[in-house]
Amino acid sequence: MLQSKLFSHTKKDVPKDEKSLNARLLIKAGYVNKLMAGAYSFLPLGLRVLNKVRKVIRSEMDKIGGQEILMPSLHPASNWKRSGGWDNIDVLFKVKSRTGRDYALGQSHEEVVTPLAKEMIQSYKDLPAAVYQIHWKFRDELRAKSGILRGRDFEMKDMYSFHENQADFDRFYQEVKKAYFRAYEKLGLTAKATEASGGSFTEKISYEFMVLTKAGEDDIFYCDNCDYCINVEIAKCEKGDKCPKCKKANLNKARASEVGNVFDLGQKYSKDFDLTFTDKKGKKKYPIMGCYGWGTTRTMGVLVEKFSDEKGIIWPEIAAPFDFHLIEISANNKQVKKEAGKLYVQLKEAGIEVLYDDRDDKKPGEKFADCDLIGIPLRVVISPKTLEQGKLEIKERQSDKVELVSKRALLERI
Ligand code: ATP
Ligand code: MG
Repeated sequence: MLQSKLFSHTKKDVPKDEKSLNARLLIKAGYVNKLMAGAYSFLPLGLRVLNKVRKVIRSEMDKIGGQEILMPSLHPASNWKRSGGWDNIDVLFKVKSRTGRDYALGQSHEEVVTPLAKEMIQSYKDLPAAVYQIHWKFRDELRAKSGILRGRDFEMKDMYSFHENQADFDRFYQEVKKAYFRAYEKLGLTAKATEASGGSFTEKISYEFMVLTKAGEDDIFYCDNCDYCINVEIAKCEKGDKCPKCKKANLNKARASEVGNVFDLGQKYSKDFDLTFTDKKGKKKYPIMGCYGWGTTRTMGVLVEKFSDEKGIIWPEIAAPFDFHLIEISANNKQVKKEAGKLYVQLKEAGIEVLYDDRDDKKPGEKFADCDLIGIPLRVVISPKTLEQGKLEIKERQSDKVELVSKRALLERI
């Protein structure tokens, strides 16, 4: 993409009321734009990052047999009344139509996926089944001050699974947990699985996937020696206590952001919506359901919170909007422009995603500052000086080391 044509521009200032680091950097660099508290537009750069996050999660969900679908955001109130959510879920946005009908905006999709599954699942032969979507959710959150970590309009990957019995559910639950860990690792994030109560849904235990960051809104106790981790909200232990699991180290306390979770829903929704199947003996039964959430927009925000410095964002390669940031320092040097343009086309043809700073009205200092702010992992510079030596200058975003390489060496490196 040519930076001279990019829809967004970097900004010098960010509105004072925007306090969170992720939103400040994302707005400054031109990834998102704030419509109001808790609602952001994703600009070309931002959508590219979100697409990368989606891709990682999608591939892991597909791998364990999840099938992608897309459900409406506008729901009839009757479904929410049937599950009890209409009166019990405080974040539910309720909408009245001009004919006086009540609707809800999807804050989660159990109320839609369960009646949907009722039309698809009749026999044990239809089980197990798992469907997921990557879609926007609407929640009347009271405090939306954490940038894209807490939106009123945010994106989630939500998967729902249906099983003949508890044993099959437990098997799948473990598979999802492993898939989640694989995806977090690919994204460069270390997630800890905390035990937590199932919240308003169920009496059962659920797992929350927590990434340590000061910007998070949860407090957790965790052990450095083993994988023990628990949400402070429900914990009986205290900081400094011996780890109840390995009994070797003392518990640490830290702030964390919940980037995903997995719930055993039991038969709550199957019963609410009379979803049954016929088992091998011909008996009617309610399937066990699971739900598996993952905040995609929150994950993008957590990446910014974790990977940035005073100059801007430092994207991990897998989530970066482009592979390279190609910068020409031409001062109207025709040869530089020609070489840079040629390299841009070559890289594009090789399937490399390049942001090409071809702007004529920006000084080198401004171009470098924008480049650091935007945070693409590799910077490639062509200037009269590099050209003289028949070379290109490359620099990784997180390092200060500048290297001169031949064009061939660069292409080989790819
Ligand atoms: P939280 O405790 O942070 O409000 P939650 O328990 O309400 O989260 P779920 O309803 O299970 O979360 O949603 C699944 C995932 O969606 C969460 O793990 C989180 O990553 C993400 N998420 C939840 N609420 C928001 C929000 N308001 N903005 C952005 N992401 C969110
Ligand atoms: Mg919540």
